[in-house]
Amino acid sequence: MATETVQPGAQNHDSMFDSVLARLDAAARLMNLSDDVAKILRNPQKLVKVSLAVQMDNGKTEIFEAYRCIHSTTLGPSKGGIRYAMDVCQDEVMALAAWMSFKCAVANLPYGGGKGGVKCDPKKLSLGELERLTRAYTKSMSDVFGVNKDIPAPDMGTSGREMAWLLDEFNKIKGEDSPGVVTGKPIVLGGSLGRDAATGRGVMVATICAMEKLNLDLKEVTVAIQGFGNVGSHAARLIAEQDIKVVAISDHTTALYNANGIDIKAAIAYAKNNGNVLKGFSGGTSITNAELLTCKCDILVPAAIQNVITAEIAPSVKARLIIEGANGPTTPEADEILKDKGVIVVPDILANGGGVTVSYFEWVQNKMGYYWPEAEVNQKHDLSMQVAFDNVWNNATEYKTTMRIGAYITALKKIELGVNFKGKF
Ligand code: GLU
Repeated sequence: MATETVQPGAQNHDSMFDSVLARLDAAARLMNLSDDVAKILRNPQKLVKVSLAVQMDNGKTEIFEAYRCIHSTTLGPSKGGIRYAMDVCQDEVMALAAWMSFKCAVANLPYGGGKGGVKCDPKKLSLGELERLTRAYTKSMSDVFGVNKDIPAPDMGTSGREMAWLLDEFNKIKGEDSPGVVTGKPIVLGGSLGRDAATGRGVMVATICAMEKLNLDLKEVTVAIQGFGNVGSHAARLIAEQDIKVVAISDHTTALYNANGIDIKAAIAYAKNNGNVLKGFSGGTSITNAELLTCKCDILVPAAIQNVITAEIAPSVKARLIIEGANGPTTPEADEILKDKGVIVVPDILANGGGVTVSYFEWVQNKMGYYWPEAEVNQKHDLSMQVAFDNVWNNATEYKTTMRIGAYITALKKIELGVNFKGKF
């Protein structure tokens, strides 16, 4: 297993990390962030790249490219998920790690930010291959991870299953049980009630908060949701439970529109019995994924992947409110177009912070060895999201800017204080 520590920021990075820097710079200018702090945050603290040698079911060895990036530990141990996807690369992992630093600061969590990823197509790997890959990744990162150091969690392409393997491998290496080294675990291994639905729950609470600010009536608005994985399906279910009409849903196999509202419970039951995909579900008229983003609706929730609301799509968006369930679904060019159109974007680093918030509650419960009922977790989560939403809203108002830049300002103010209190030397 080869371990290579690459120089953060040494390579050319294109879209995603540049997107982070563009927003960071815009916020820094408005709030007068000190140049020193900006410099620190423009460069991830640590970037580890490894080549994982994994034995496949056919007996042959495959090499997988894998990363863990620690963007910042100013406000606490780094926190962030592990992604299994084919587009995992240095640029993406750096961007996602930086977003975690800002997301945790916005959510008022005592964490910095990190992110990991393995370049692979998890759908093409057998259960055994996935387990060996996860154990190899954990082994190579066993000095990076730690309960008070760097705490991974699920992200795209991973779930409680991978976190259980990770925990087991880490415990074996360290020779003791450290449930708090990873969050998003199965409940029986120290996971938190409410964690699985938490990101979707946060999206729902952020949606309600935004509707209140804009005086939108629950009974009258319509919502379109892109993505029906962990974030999109829970968000759809929880939004529908508020009596809000969900008129469009999609996943990577299909997209559906129904002006009368889609039966979300039926869609979830259908996907559960059909290999976790919506293809073939008859609850609406079939549309394309691009049509979903531009369909007639009041609120659009991109909850699938990054860079879907682009400069090409943005002019045709009909929603007046966008709630970002995914990380980085809107490009900086699209941001400008949406701003000019008067569309309010509740940014990812606020709207999808519910997941990491309940990850924090899981970590606290692991440290206490005492576990809370789901209602308590949900109540604490909802309050935390409402507070974060108000902070971002107030900063956006004070600095006369968008909610995205308001969210960056909220985060940067805290991180700047942290850097100054700790000292730079
Ligand atoms: N992967 C999730 C995110 O992007 C959760 C991270 C965590 O719980 O640490 O926010």
